[in-house]
Amino acid sequence: MEKYDLLIVGSGIVGSSLAFYSSKNNKKVLVVEKNFTGFNSSGNAQGGLAPYLGTDISTKKMHDNSYYLHKEFKKMFRNYTEINPNYDEKRLIHIIDSAEEKELLSNNFGYRINNDLNSIKNLEPKLKKINHGVIIFDDYMEVDSFNLTNSLLSSSLNMGAKIITHDFKIENLQFNKNRLESFSTNDERFLIKNVAITAGPWTSEIAKNNDHIKVKPLKGQLLKFKTSQDFNNSISWGKDYATKKKDDLLWIGTTEEDVKFTAGKTEEAKVKILNSFNEMFNGFDDLNLIDHTACFRPYSENNIPVIKKSDKLSNIFYGSGAGRNGIKLGPGMGEKLYQEIFS
Ligand SMILES: Cc1cc2nc3c(=O)[nH]c(=O)nc-3n(C[C@H](O)[C@H](O)[C@H](O)COP(=O)(O)OP(=O)(O)OC[C@H]3O[C@@H](n4cnc5c(N)ncnc54)[C@H](O)[C@@H]3O)c2cc1C
Repeated sequence: MEKYDLLIVGSGIVGSSLAFYSSKNNKKVLVVEKNFTGFNSSGNAQGGLAPYLGTDISTKKMHDNSYYLHKEFKKMFRNYTEINPNYDEKRLIHIIDSAEEKELLSNNFGYRINNDLNSIKNLEPKLKKINHGVIIFDDYMEVDSFNLTNSLLSSSLNMGAKIITHDFKIENLQFNKNRLESFSTNDERFLIKNVAITAGPWTSEIAKNNDHIKVKPLKGQLLKFKTSQDFNNSISWGKDYATKKKDDLLWIGTTEEDVKFTAGKTEEAKVKILNSFNEMFNGFDDLNLIDHTACFRPYSENNIPVIKKSDKLSNIFYGSGAGRNGIKLGPGMGEKLYQEIFS
């Protein structure tokens, strides 16, 4: 029977990052994925590694550390895999939407707020308005989230990890006098020492008979357009954003829909996203819709990730709930989970 230090359930960005850091530290890793690596939001996100603008200190630390890990992975992924995450360094212009947000960002965080529409228009001529001012971030990157997730996973496979297709249930685990012993599918049995459940918005459902994991699905939709117009910055306002990515498509998002797991893209979301974009920009008269996606973020209150050990079951851990920031936080969450499990 094969023996593993760690079984990882779900190869989204969090599970794939955990597989990467565990394999890099010579742990034997088995990944189970019921769909494919980068299914759901990890393969469909906008991929912006935006600065944290909230007030939770430990989440801020996780953002800073994770951004550092992205920069490291950008430099060294070629040592592990041929899949290029397509990191793209660019400028982020964040438009402040309300007086409260302005107060928070200037007083609490000391950000310099630019209120000069003309100077911003030099950077982005199609911008119509700047609401309560803008903050310009020069240290910002975007990635191809599908490639990044697969890059991390393939790196771990190249270091000896194994992946199987399986719809995991807690009942697949065997315990001996409360000690975790093994994991079985219909065909195989593996000896395992630890389990990490990184199943995105499905994590709470898997945990429900043993642990209360406060993560729920929050649907988000995105539109991708072909356009001949230049758009050189990434721009965010309120909960929306627009950016021309390395695929030369203009990506515009997004929605936040509390609809449980009701799947599928909607005309209503498309209209809402486009209306918000058209309120902010002019000059895009040749937008040609190429793609429209909808998937589920693992949402936790205030986008504060859940990384914890099971209250009831030995050697079971959970990592989920990065909400809107999972692509940015994935490496940080993967590394933190690795430390929780093995230290
Ligand atoms: C429209 C949109 C735009 C976004 N843009 C950004 C952005 O710009 N920047 C950013 O940082 N974040 C962004 N996000 C958020 C980010 O995509 C998510 O937070 C992140 O991908 C969540 O990763 P995860 O690994 O926790 O979950 P997931 O990506 O959901 O992965 C979980 C995996 O677990 C598997 N699984 C589930 N149940 C089982 C089971 N029982 N057995 C086996 N496998 C299982 C699933 O098949 C899936 O592959 C965006 C999200 C959306 C929806």
